[in-house]
Amino acid sequence: MSSKQIVIHAPATVANMVCGFDVLGFAVNEPYDIMKIRFSDSPGVTIINEDIYNLPIDPAKNVAGAALLAMLEEIPEVAGLELTINKQIKPGSGVGSSAASAAGAVVAANCLLEDRFRKEDLVRFAMNGEKLASGVKHADNIAPCIYGGVTLIRSIFPLDIIELNAPPLFVTIVHPQIEVRTADARSILKQQIQLKDAIKQWGNIAGLVAGLQKSDYDLIGRSLEDVLIEPIRSILIPGFDEVKQKSKEVGALGGGISGSGPSIFMLSKDEQTARKVETEMKAIFSGIGLEHHTYITTINQQGIKIIEA
Ligand code: ADP
Repeated sequence: MSSKQIVIHAPATVANMVCGFDVLGFAVNEPYDIMKIRFSDSPGVTIINEDIYNLPIDPAKNVAGAALLAMLEEIPEVAGLELTINKQIKPGSGVGSSAASAAGAVVAANCLLEDRFRKEDLVRFAMNGEKLASGVKHADNIAPCIYGGVTLIRSIFPLDIIELNAPPLFVTIVHPQIEVRTADARSILKQQIQLKDAIKQWGNIAGLVAGLQKSDYDLIGRSLEDVLIEPIRSILIPGFDEVKQKSKEVGALGGGISGSGPSIFMLSKDEQTARKVETEMKAIFSGIGLEHHTYITTINQQGIKIIEA
């Protein structure tokens, strides 16, 4: 058995990219989780946590473990894997903490296995982690985490992932320290929508995809509008409307809720604007007395990075 160790960085991701609820997501360069993996004589998956989050070490209860257990079923010759997690992406923040663990674990294991599996297989394994975290298999964090850049998940069953080109974009993220339970964020959504709203939404999705492909920043900005989900979900995030309005006033292209919240992201064409957006975000949350963290980052084109192989 090889004693080789693989070290990877698994990035945070933004799912539900404004109008692209459940279908469009992107990876960012910061924050990211650091993970190490190697073969082990102990059967199954052994998890070692090296961070402050006290996540379960039982592989069936940790999303990284759930993803690796699904992978192990297809590699009977491998007895066990030992995974060390140093999580930097706070769980439940809405920037794909669970996806980074699940996707990072299987990408690292695949590197150990000398690229035995295709990316689609890795998404399939990693979705078992998302099922554990949120009750449903979804790929709008997993896919950008593995592929990098902006990804369109046209379908999950069967899996159909399209990598989109994106021009350089700066991303400002604010994470207000409140809890929005994914289950609550889902349960308040309407199950029926008006045709006129659906028309607006698919116009915006098509516009956003076209804008990204053509590097047309104005079209991207015009298309960053969600008439279906955001008006309902944003009620769970104090300060949301003001963050959006002030960010646009200082030049942001637009943005919205990251995943199911509470994080909010805004896209800008240049770093200077992204910094102005951060200043506005900080002022708004300080004004309402809500503790918060901000990041200024860029779109991560590569996805999970192999640091040591
Ligand atoms: P996020 O969007 O940040 O991934 P989720 O609510 O989808 O937030 O997932 C976080 C949930 O998954 C938390 O309840 C957390 O305890 C659980 N979890 C289990 N294992 C992990 C892990 N390795 N990384 C992150 N979250 C995990």
